[in-house]
Amino acid sequence: MQTSSFHTIVIGAGPAGLACATTLARAGQPVLLLERHRRIGPKVCAGGLPASTLALLDLPPALLEHRFSRQLIRSGWQRVELAAPAPLVCTVDREKLGQWMAARAAAAGVTILTGVTAQGIERGAVRTSHGVFHYDYLVGADGSSSLVRRFLGLPTTRVGIGLHHQLAGDFDAMAWHLSPRHFGNGYAWVFPHRASASIGVYSACSDLPPRLLQEKLHHWATKYGIDLTPAPPRAARISFDYRGWRFGTIFLVGDAAGLASGLTGEGIYAALLSGEIAGRTILDPAYTDRRFVALLRRHRLHERILTLAGRNRFSCSLILETLVAALRCGMFDHTALELGG
Ligand SMILES: Cc1cc2nc3c(=O)[nH]c(=O)nc-3n(C[C@H](O)[C@H](O)[C@H](O)COP(=O)(O)OP(=O)(O)OC[C@H]3O[C@@H](n4cnc5c(N)ncnc54)[C@H](O)[C@@H]3O)c2cc1C
Repeated sequence: MQTSSFHTIVIGAGPAGLACATTLARAGQPVLLLERHRRIGPKVCAGGLPASTLALLDLPPALLEHRFSRQLIRSGWQRVELAAPAPLVCTVDREKLGQWMAARAAAAGVTILTGVTAQGIERGAVRTSHGVFHYDYLVGADGSSSLVRRFLGLPTTRVGIGLHHQLAGDFDAMAWHLSPRHFGNGYAWVFPHRASASIGVYSACSDLPPRLLQEKLHHWATKYGIDLTPAPPRAARISFDYRGWRFGTIFLVGDAAGLASGLTGEGIYAALLSGEIAGRTILDPAYTDRRFVALLRRHRLHERILTLAGRNRFSCSLILETLVAALRCGMFDHTALELGG
């Protein structure tokens, strides 16, 4: 058993925790990063990164699986192709992204312990499977079922479900399918990677539990000639239940803070940005960042659209079709659907 003290303990080595720990360590602070899994990176995720997210990362080009300067959006009534001279979205393998960010964190001086689960939190101390660690600052970057969030007494009621199959094969087009009949206020996607594609569905409808969502995804895939059975389904919760991020010397970031989009399920941008900003705020409590103000504004907009779409099937169809029509006519910039746009 170990007992040690750190300026900051970060729980969770997803993009939020890695971004936060690296920011602090680069400023010379002793940081402990705890990750319950033995390997950093693997995560149920489609790995779609819009240009705004890439701008936060400076990723080596070799880590980009696929780049798309076109995206296809289908709804019940419409079909839109968004095109731009530069790539609009790229895909990455989450395990490779995690490993790259972990190497960057270690090079900055972060003490990383993997295979260590935070089991209990007190003011000033974290009890883990490998001993007790003391902190001046604590950062909860522990995802949608955050222990730190529960310690703070914050409920998590607004969550979506993301479910996907990583299917081997060559897929070239990035596509989004909005179908209230199948997915309520959510959508299905095809996000091609190098020799496979993430084919999945996101929905924030409480009456679409994972099993039903999976049935609907299979039904939809069959219609488009895709057989999902060779790859197993994997699902995870995505929290968009934002109730604050700064609680004295304790911070919540990424999904733990509920910063993912309720409308799209996108959360990597919010995780990276909030992680970096929590780190900067620990270093300088007066730190402010306009990107974070914009992120919270976009988060509220997405929740309002989701609430309107959630009233009934008719309002859902009307709102989704209006969004697609606005995209088609160029009245609505597609970046408004991205948290970092
Ligand atoms: C099917 C699916 C597809 C998605 N596709 C996309 C996409 O294309 N683009 C996008 O932007 N977002 C996508 N998302 C959302 C995205 O994956 C999350 O928003 C993002 O990973 C959040 O990052 P995070 O660092 O906050 O949390 P996480 O990535 O969840 O990391 C939390 C970490 O904390 C660790 N942890 C948890 N509890 C403890 C504990 N007690 N002790 C120690 N460690 C702990 C976990 O093991 C994990 O490594 C998708 C989600 C799903 C489910």
